[in-house]
Amino acid sequence: MMRMTVLASGSKGNSTVIASSRTRVLVDAGLSCRELLKRMTIAGEDPAQLDAILITHEHQDHIAGLSVLARRLNIPVFFTEPTHRAWVRMLTPRTTMTYAKWLDHVQREKEARAAAVAASAPNSELAGQLAEESRIIAGIAAGAALNRSDDPNTPPELPVDPEEEDLCAPESQQAAGQKPDPTYLPAVEYFHSGTRFSIGDIDITPFTIPHDAADPCGFVFESEGIRMALATDLGYMPPNVKSALKRIDVLLLESNHDLEMLRDGPYPWSVKQRVLSRVGHLSNHATAEFLQKDYDGGASWIVLGHLSESNNAPELARLSAEQALGNQPTLLGNRVLLAHQGTPLDPITL
Ligand SMILES: [Zn+2]
Ligand SMILES: [Zn+2]
Repeated sequence: MMRMTVLASGSKGNSTVIASSRTRVLVDAGLSCRELLKRMTIAGEDPAQLDAILITHEHQDHIAGLSVLARRLNIPVFFTEPTHRAWVRMLTPRTTMTYAKWLDHVQREKEARAAAVAASAPNSELAGQLAEESRIIAGIAAGAALNRSDDPNTPPELPVDPEEEDLCAPESQQAAGQKPDPTYLPAVEYFHSGTRFSIGDIDITPFTIPHDAADPCGFVFESEGIRMALATDLGYMPPNVKSALKRIDVLLLESNHDLEMLRDGPYPWSVKQRVLSRVGHLSNHATAEFLQKDYDGGASWIVLGHLSESNNAPELARLSAEQALGNQPTLLGNRVLLAHQGTPLDPITL
């Protein structure tokens, strides 16, 4: 048995429960602790049974409730090391960065990773991909230095809501009147993209995605022969992602924006450029292209997620994906669902 329960999906917060018969993990914690606990209860997922939290990347819509929730449930958090470091830096007041400075930092980290990958595997696709991403981020950083944006996806300067801390802090801390260190976590475990690891009876394969964060990834989860995958927050579909998304039974895939709505929509030009870039988000069109050309057609469910509220319409995303799947059987497989920002999706169980 495996189950996927999307608690929230979109630029205002992302979080999904992946469960096997013995193990439950939460992927991302992009809503407040209180809201995450509420949505788990609504969806029939017992928060007390969660074994771990996994983080795809450090943007606020993926980590907003992380530290409070992890402390509350007293469970470990799995990151890549660069993502953990970027998250700690974001929460450390003395080093709060502007978006431009932060992008500059991400670019330097990306260059370092590209150099490390190039040293161990010169001429590999991943080395080329990382080098290209660092060049693109340099371009966005140059633009962002001139234009501050209010894009909801824009990371740093995290507010910590004191009321939220009080409500969700463990009783012992509340009684002692301590103000917890915002970066304190009960336990931190590191993983590397491309290297499989296990939590309980779930095998997890993280894969690198092209996005403007320190070390962003998607995940494939496998238990008892069932495979579920999450791939959102990616600027395009590079070969490593296409090959990671083979033989998937339930696929949560980004369908962020309609190209025309984004072009004509309310975002400032610099933000439009960022979303459209190869380290931004997948358009309905790019998702449809993947589904038509590269997808192996084997999933029972395709869940479209991270839909923009300003630059997309759920029916456009659905139509685009269903047309792309047109010649695939839809009675038992390739059923399309839309994940929501405001309410959890019914659990998908296989
Ligand atoms: Zn996101
Ligand atoms: Zn993101």
